[in-house]
Amino acid sequence: MASTLPSWPPKMSKEQVDALSRAAVDYALSHSIAYRPLPLSSTGGPPPHDAAIHAPISLLPSPFPAALYEQSQRLQPLYNDLYARITVDHGFLAKVIGGNVILVDEFQAQLWALWNRVRKEGVAQPLHLGLFRSDYLLHQVDQHGTLALKQVELNTISSSFGPLCTRVSELHRHLASSTAFYDLSPHLRIDQMPKNRALETLASGLAAGHHAYLERTAKAAQSDDVVILFVVQDGERNAFDQRLIEYQLLEQHGVRVRRASLQQLSKTAKLSGDDRRLYVTDAALGRQEQVSVVYFRAGYTPGDYPTEREWETRLQLELSLAIKCPTAALQLAGAKKVQQVLADPGVLESLVQDDKRGRFWSNDEVDMLRQSFMSMYGMETDGEGVAIASDPNRAADYVLKPQREGGGNNIYRDDIVPTLQNLDKLDAEQGQQSGSDGSARSIKRREAYILMKLIEPPSHLGNYLVRYDAQASAKAAVPHAVLAPHVISELGAFGTILFESLPSQKDDAAAPGPRVVFEQSGGHLLRTKASESNEGGVAAGYSVIDSPVLI
Ligand code: ADP
Ligand code: MG
Repeated sequence: MASTLPSWPPKMSKEQVDALSRAAVDYALSHSIAYRPLPLSSTGGPPPHDAAIHAPISLLPSPFPAALYEQSQRLQPLYNDLYARITVDHGFLAKVIGGNVILVDEFQAQLWALWNRVRKEGVAQPLHLGLFRSDYLLHQVDQHGTLALKQVELNTISSSFGPLCTRVSELHRHLASSTAFYDLSPHLRIDQMPKNRALETLASGLAAGHHAYLERTAKAAQSDDVVILFVVQDGERNAFDQRLIEYQLLEQHGVRVRRASLQQLSKTAKLSGDDRRLYVTDAALGRQEQVSVVYFRAGYTPGDYPTEREWETRLQLELSLAIKCPTAALQLAGAKKVQQVLADPGVLESLVQDDKRGRFWSNDEVDMLRQSFMSMYGMETDGEGVAIASDPNRAADYVLKPQREGGGNNIYRDDIVPTLQNLDKLDAEQGQQSGSDGSARSIKRREAYILMKLIEPPSHLGNYLVRYDAQASAKAAVPHAVLAPHVISELGAFGTILFESLPSQKDDAAAPGPRVVFEQSGGHLLRTKASESNEGGVAAGYSVIDSPVLI
């Protein structure tokens, strides 16, 4: 579609910026659009537990093409279905993850070993629960400003900010109602600011898991208290995003939540009975409770497993009868390597146009999903990926990504060639590893990366970014709103799916598709960051939570 995005933000006086940011920050603090502050000590330590600052927000919603927003929402049920199919297809995961990736990526190797251990000891709970967020950037297809929606990645673990963005969407709608944004722009209309169902979708998925568990283990439910367990990081600054899901679960679904870190659970969790029910002892309560669903808001990064004990605890949770959101298999399905392989010719089709794996997708559905892919390459020897990444002129349009989550790991543009040279040097120094099948073929470190063409978002959009700044607020009694003349906005779409692996005859036989118990899509996250480029690459600014105004 041709871009009709207006230049942004509209011109505002200082009085208007001050008044709107005061209103915005008061609304944010009144509606839990909040973060824990940074640790008080410059040498680290936990953030203060009993204080909050407002989360970083954009003052105005950002313009987004209505048709592409709707496309993101239409794509989500397809992505839900696709990632459920990948998760239950052990042969596929074995080929993509269990092949080369685990030989060069320690973290993926540990997760893969964990999953195989669970399969060996017997899967107590065949249900997997996914709470997904598929992230997109707008891509300028040509010189005429034609825009397309391109996927950055799909998150299968700890997809965050849905609840806070639900509140920011309400904040921008509130400002539209209460101030009409001072008639700054004809685009700032409340009927063009979509209601955000992210919080509702996330809580519904967890509640569906809880109720499916109760139905299947009816006996226990009568005598025990059954709760959902949130596995969280110690010192989490984004705790209120998680708390909002907890409150929604209790208020809308009548389900109670407990929170604990992997380290705490190593002391308080235990499995009981032949069916391996998971019990967690709550010290304050003085008794144990049975867990229906384990929701991981930790465990996605190596730092969450400082010692072997955390891995043992993860294994214990994984072996249990509780429904995991996600299972190790579903977490692995979210690897960037899987995303890249899906873009290879015929791979997507083999998963979704095969009667044995579930509903046969129409060609239109396959095309729609494929069109959301950016060009991606593996880094296997002699492939196109290595050719591009070794040529400074061509590498300038690409980003190199390791199999990691959580931001800050990517290698951009000019940094790609030297990074590759370093990896190859390490291989030469330390010796290469041989193939998992015992073949002589050597695996290179670079094969743990994927190469992705850079998405090129429109460059004429800006916004006011409002974030708490202790020094600025000591000097002036207005919130710290900074005009960022060039911003990039990343749209996330939320979906949830509860599905079951059916037993397959043989590991290497075509796996039967998943049996879906519950599925729902809806809601979004818009994150906006200042964009600055330098010769070395893209220096990403600090993201704020935003909401779309549809154009
Ligand atoms: P992570 O798992 O660390 O979140 P992502 O794949 O989401 O990894 O990359 C982090 C950020 O890098 C994204 O939020 C986006 O801003 C930027 N990015 C990633 N891939 C691309 C791409 N192909 N084009 C442009 N920017 C990208
Ligand atoms: Mg990301």
